[in-house]
Amino acid sequence: MVKNDAEIVDIEQRQDVALKENQLHVFYQLKRNIFKDNWCGSEALIRWIDPIKGMISPGKFIPLFEKNGFVIKLDLFAFENVCKNISRMIDDGITPLRVSVNVSRSHLMHKNFLDEYFKLMKKYNVPPKYIEFELTESLVMENSEILVEIINQIHKFGCTCSIDDFGSGYSSLNMLKEFDFDVIKLDQVFFRGSNGFDDKAKKIVHSVIELCHTLNKTIVAEGVENKEIVNYLKKEKCAIIQGYYFSKPVPYEDYMTQVKKQSEEEKNKINDK
Ligand code: C2E
Ligand code: CA
Ligand code: CA
Repeated sequence: MVKNDAEIVDIEQRQDVALKENQLHVFYQLKRNIFKDNWCGSEALIRWIDPIKGMISPGKFIPLFEKNGFVIKLDLFAFENVCKNISRMIDDGITPLRVSVNVSRSHLMHKNFLDEYFKLMKKYNVPPKYIEFELTESLVMENSEILVEIINQIHKFGCTCSIDDFGSGYSSLNMLKEFDFDVIKLDQVFFRGSNGFDDKAKKIVHSVIELCHTLNKTIVAEGVENKEIVNYLKKEKCAIIQGYYFSKPVPYEDYMTQVKKQSEEEKNKINDK
């Protein structure tokens, strides 16, 4: 969080420069399928690398940019980058992974905000199956009618959508009933809360996974840092994990190297058959 007013003013004064002078970068955090033993997707996460201050965490500037509206520009910048990178991979013969992108709640004030996203996908020839939109619980609660329409548009275009930070808000269960999300991202708080991953957390995680399975939803467990939790999730048949245990968010070049490696291994497997 930002500590004082001077810091807020400082960040806000530098936001446009950051965009113009290439200080904003998209990092990727891989998601692991622990049953297939492969990378099955990634999340695009913004980083601000200031020439003097170094890396500034999104936890510092995203809440500010949500307030002053700059987050809309930033999200579209991140998305264009994602599209360019997927397109580059395809041109280089690499099979891309599906990338999920964070959609800020500010977008919802603009009814047709998805048109900009779809336009970019068309511009860079990105097949819709490679994009997933992450929407958060808070965004959902405030805008329920618009949200039904947004999810329809996402599906109609051929993309998927996930509910981010599931379990961190209040109306989670109702949301599962009202909205047609493809993926449920289980919030990190279950695994790294104040009491750690204790028995109570385990029981809740167990029930949520069971519920998602019953509803035929894909679950992604976020913020997993150790082997014990991985083993627990395996036992509970939660296939997809995103957390430092498998991979931290990394710059595009490192991400691309991993995706390329897997893409080549899969092609070799097919050729060997
Ligand atoms: P998020 O969408 O919930 O993203 C997951 C955050 O958890 C990331 O933090 C990621 O680095 C962190 N994380 C993942 N696994 C672990 C783990 O095992 N241990 C720990 N300690 N942390 C883990 P990050 O990158 O700092 O992003 C923070 C938040 O900033 C994101 O939370 C998201 O709400 C927002 N954000 C990041 N990039 C964007 C963006 O391009 N647009 C918008 N609107 N928001 C963004
Ligand atoms: Ca997210
Ligand atoms: Ca999350």
